[in-house]
Amino acid sequence: MVPTYRKDTIAAIATPQGIGALGIVRVSGPDAIVKINGLFPNKDLETIKSHTLHFGPIIHEGELIDEVLISVFRAPHSFTGENSVEISCHGSPYILQKLMEALAAIGISPAEPGEYTLRAYLNGRMDLSQAEAVADLIAAESKAAHDTAMQQMRGGFSLKIKELRAQLLYFASLIELELDFAEEDVEFADRGTLINLLDTTYMEAAKLAASFQLGNAIKSGVKVVIAGRPNAGKSTLLNALLNEERALVSDIPGTTRDSIEDVLVVDGIKFRFIDTAGIRDPAETIERMGIARTFEKIKEADIIVYLYDVNTTSPQMLRDDIETFEGKNKIILVGNKIDSAQEDKAPFETGFQFPSVQISAKKGLHIDAFKSLLIQSLDLAHVMPTGQETIVTNIRHFNSLNHVLMAIDQIRAGLQLHITGDLLAADIKSALRSMAEITGEITSDEILGNIFGKFCIGK
Ligand code: GDP
Repeated sequence: MVPTYRKDTIAAIATPQGIGALGIVRVSGPDAIVKINGLFPNKDLETIKSHTLHFGPIIHEGELIDEVLISVFRAPHSFTGENSVEISCHGSPYILQKLMEALAAIGISPAEPGEYTLRAYLNGRMDLSQAEAVADLIAAESKAAHDTAMQQMRGGFSLKIKELRAQLLYFASLIELELDFAEEDVEFADRGTLINLLDTTYMEAAKLAASFQLGNAIKSGVKVVIAGRPNAGKSTLLNALLNEERALVSDIPGTTRDSIEDVLVVDGIKFRFIDTAGIRDPAETIERMGIARTFEKIKEADIIVYLYDVNTTSPQMLRDDIETFEGKNKIILVGNKIDSAQEDKAPFETGFQFPSVQISAKKGLHIDAFKSLLIQSLDLAHVMPTGQETIVTNIRHFNSLNHVLMAIDQIRAGLQLHITGDLLAADIKSALRSMAEITGEITSDEILGNIFGKFCIGK
């Protein structure tokens, strides 16, 4: 279904607000070139070649707005697939505003958030998952988030979905063939082959769905909680990490950020240290705040770093604390204050299989080893080195994949019960539909509104 959308010519400031060296206004739509031509006396933009640059003044109603550089892209060879013009002017908010006013005066309307990318999608320049990756790419704050968004934007994920879809279509064609000869009561494809085919598709879809946990962590940051008894050195450790890695991270619109949360990037991965005010001291707080709330916080974490003072913690104390962390989180044991440990006091065996390290937060000893453990605990080894692996980072795709899996389960059950092809058809269609939703071959105005409404204006 092709959603309704306006096809007029639109404009938006594409650079961030405020003063900058340059400001860029993007214009797209059928009249983009002809309309800007009216403001640009130096050259006849209508006759010049696509993908060329032109310097000159922008003049509106006799007033010189700025001297600018104009790039011209003719349909369909532009980001949106429409005629497009980009105006690079001086990065003055006043000039940009005057320019937008002049554009409005000649009948170019302001773009909605994400409207350029929406148009690119609607004009077949990219599929929906690629369009979504554009937003992720802009928001990416770490190497891993950048890599996965880039992979997706360049069509890696779409290709994977297309392969799955092709497998399912092949399966459908075998069933279809059977239907054509239904009266003759023949089974063309033997059920074993069909089930094998389904199993393969299922496994691949399941692998993609399973990658979401990691993908989500990469995109929004891996949540880490530092827990431990009072004075174990939790604040000191956090400060040691932050001082070293004070990262360039900002709020991303559309993501909720806990008010007390420190973000840092280690080896290209973004970690969010959830403030553990409530769970800094598990033993105490459990009584104070009630087990439920404490564990809710802990459950949110992907990783729990359990910090203990090697001088004052007995194996029993450690076990008591660790046992309170039941759940699926990964746990890293960190013995602190080795700088002040008595020499005869060898690190004791914790008796746990969790990865562990001994550090001094205050003196900055073995902090790198600790960081390595953080990275290792994500189990990235199989995905990161090549960067080729497809990782699902988008909850919408994850949900669709889960629908695909459910539908395939139904088809499998149907096959085992030897139900006829026409009865299987509904489930096959449902699986195909969910796949098509990911790439946007099937979509609705509501879904598009949700996706593109979260983009910034000018993208
Ligand atoms: P928190 O209550 O767990 O947040 O612990 P703090 O970070 O406030 O540290 C408690 C005390 O332990 C402070 O006096 C720190 O200076 C001290 N401390 C923290 N890390 C180390 C360390 O590696 N070696 C030594 N000797 N003292 C430390």
